[in-house]
Parts: sequence; C-alpha cells; structure tokens
Amino acid sequence: MVIPEPVMQAISLLNQSGYEAYLVGGCVRDAVMHIPPHDYDLTTSATPSEMQKVFAAFRTIETGLKHGTLTVLMDEYPLEITTFRLDGEYLDNRHPKEVIFTRKLENDLSRRDFTINAMAYHPDEGLVDLFSGQEDCKNKILRCVGPAATRFEEDALRILRALRFAARLQFAIEKRTASAIFDKKELLHHISAERIAVELNGLLLADGAVPILEQFADVLFTVLPSLRTERWAVSLSALARTPKELPLRWAALLHPLGEENARQIMQKLKVSNQLRDTVCALVQYHALKLTEENMQLRLMQVGDALILPLIQLQDSLAAAKNTSFDTGNLQKKAKQLMDSGACYTLSRLAVSGSDLAAIGIRGPAIGQMLHHLLEQVASGKAENKKETLLETAQTIIR
Ligand code: ATP
Ligand code: MG
Repeated sequence: MVIPEPVMQAISLLNQSGYEAYLVGGCVRDAVMHIPPHDYDLTTSATPSEMQKVFAAFRTIETGLKHGTLTVLMDEYPLEITTFRLDGEYLDNRHPKEVIFTRKLENDLSRRDFTINAMAYHPDEGLVDLFSGQEDCKNKILRCVGPAATRFEEDALRILRALRFAARLQFAIEKRTASAIFDKKELLHHISAERIAVELNGLLLADGAVPILEQFADVLFTVLPSLRTERWAVSLSALARTPKELPLRWAALLHPLGEENARQIMQKLKVSNQLRDTVCALVQYHALKLTEENMQLRLMQVGDALILPLIQLQDSLAAAKNTSFDTGNLQKKAKQLMDSGACYTLSRLAVSGSDLAAIGIRGPAIGQMLHHLLEQVASGKAENKKETLLETAQTIIR
C-alpha cells in the first residue's frame, strides 16, 4: 500500500510514543481493491488527550474529541485520527449511549459496519483482517461484521450504507445481510432526513444504483412511500440511462410522479433549495416539447440554467423508451442562442417599462405587456426592435 509521507510520519510519531496506530476503513478497502484512496483515516490506542501530547507540535482541530477523533494538520495535510473504541449500548437505532475507549484494535474493528470496512493496515505489520474483508473484496460481497440484524438494530443507517456501498462498488449483498436489510427496514423511520438524504444521494450517483434499487425497492419505499407506483419500472429504466449528475438522477427517478410529489419528496429529505428547485423544474418540464424552432421560447420559459440539463434528461427518457431524440442539434441550438445574446429575457428586450410608460401604459399592465412582447420575440413572431415593439403595444392598447 502506498502511504503518503505525512501519514507515515503520524504513524511513526504514535508508535515512537508507545501507541499502536493503523490505517483503517475506506482507505484500506480501496487499497485492497487497487483503487486510489481519497483520504486516509488512522485508528490508534492513544486516548484523545494522549494524542494531543503526541501531536503537540502540530496544529490540531478537536473535531469529534468526545468520540475520540482528533484532526491533525500534518503540514497542511488534514488527517483524522480516532482512538480505538467500542460503542456502548445503542439508544435510538442510531446513536450509542456512550463511546468507550479501548486499547485493543480488535474491539475497534468489530464495531465497524461491513467486513470490507473493518480492515486495518500497518506499514510494518501489513494487513489486519479479522473478518475476511479481503476475501469479500475479492468475491465482491458486502457483508456485515457480526450478526446483521443486530448491527442494523444498533444503527439503522447502516441499511442505507449497505445499499450505497453495494451500488458504488457493484458488490452483491450477502444473503443474511440482505434478509436482515428487509427485516429491519422499518427502523429507518428513526433516522434523520438529512442522513437519509446523504446516503440516497450517494446511492443514486453510484454506477450500480439500478440493480440495487431493483432488488431493494421495498427499502426505498419504506423511506419514500410515494415512490411505490406502477411506474417504478419507468423510473428505474430512465435512471439507468441518466448521466452521473444528482439533479438528473433524482429527476429521472421522480419524473413519473409529477412535480407536486417530487417537491414533497425533496422537502421531506431536506435537500438544499437549489437541488430541490432544479429537480422539481426538470420533473415539471420533462415532457415539454423541445425543437430547434421553439428553443428561444423554451429558453424564456425554463431559463438558461435549466435548458441543457432538460435536454439531457429528455435524451435519457427517450433512450429508456427506445425512441429517437435529436439531442445534438437541440444542444447546439440552445448553446448558439445563449452565446449569441438572443432575446429570451426581459433584460434583452428592446423596450423597457419606461418606454411603455411613455406611451401611456400604467401599473401592472406594463409587466403584462413586457411579457407579451418578450413572448412574441422569443417565438419569432416579432423582431426585437424598439419601434416595431412599441407599434405592437400601441395596437394592443388601442
Ligand atoms: P467513503 O469512501 O465513502 O468515505 P468510508 O469507508 O471511508 O467510505 P465513512 O463513512 O467515511 O466510509 O466511514 C469510515 C469508516 O468508519 C468506515 O469504513 C467504517 O469502518 C466506519 N463506519 C462509518 N459509519 C459507520 C456506521 N454507521 N457503523 C459502523 N461503522 C461505521
Ligand atoms: Mg471516508
């Protein structure tokens, strides 16, 4: 395993002070699978206060000190180091009552969720793999550490973590782990919306999302009951063809439900306003007819931020239905209109509110007239010229 220098240094410092220290979790799993790790987490026998002494010369951030986690900045390189711990009794299907520090690596590894996430590595000792995580990596199997039902009862979020990891790594979920997922799915009602959203977002963005959602649809329906419709298969087949972008993936999944239901789901999950609004708009316009001829009008209706994602979504939906869609030309047309400063917003219209006021239009009629004129221009029925537009306005008010 290739270990960055600052990480090596942190391990050495802990070892020199008489503490054990290992790489653990995702980075070990990734290394075993020959995937470059995106970060390196350490676990150590040192307690948080002992760690603070060892790293006294470095800047540290007390991120989660009461859970045993200290972030050490090794020359700008942030490293999360956590004391070996045991989780106390679990309270609400999510949080351990207390965190118990321990001097034994084995205890720490056995509280971890899946065998592939429960491996540790030391540069001299090599791999510590007490639960056959390496073999499960090789066979592409996701399996709980210990009795699956108990592990999901302790922390029901692990149910969604299981789906996310299986989808991301394209692993099969081991039989007993899978049946415990179904048995314990109702416990997800105890998990906060925010945590659920994080896991679902990760799941939707995974390469293997669709087969997992197919197999574990009932789990998703437990969290989001309104997804259980006769159009579920349509959702999945659209999802299978959508590029890896969160708004598109959510829109593919939710498009058969309509905008109102999509909004309720996004609100329930407490996702950001931006994600919610983009997804809802994509759902709302998923069947809006797009042509090169009406593109300027569509830009006026949906806005330039949404037009390319909308074309992309409609492309995916068409692919799912095996129908043809003129994606390339529509994209080209939309880009050309956006780049050329074509008129599809009021700010580009050749007349302004004060121009209309000058010919005697007053109050709310000004806004209505501006909008009408913009629509005329964007649909190609009028030229974007001040005199022509004022004439049109005058004929209307006369
Ligand atoms: P990723 O690449 O997604 O970051 P990761 O394995 O690092 O994957 P994290 O959520 O960052 O996942 O968690 C780090 C490690 O902590 C996991 O590998 C696992 O050993 C442990 N862990 C995290 N959450 C839980 C949990 N809810 N229950 C048990 N162990 C957990
Ligand atoms: Mg991680």
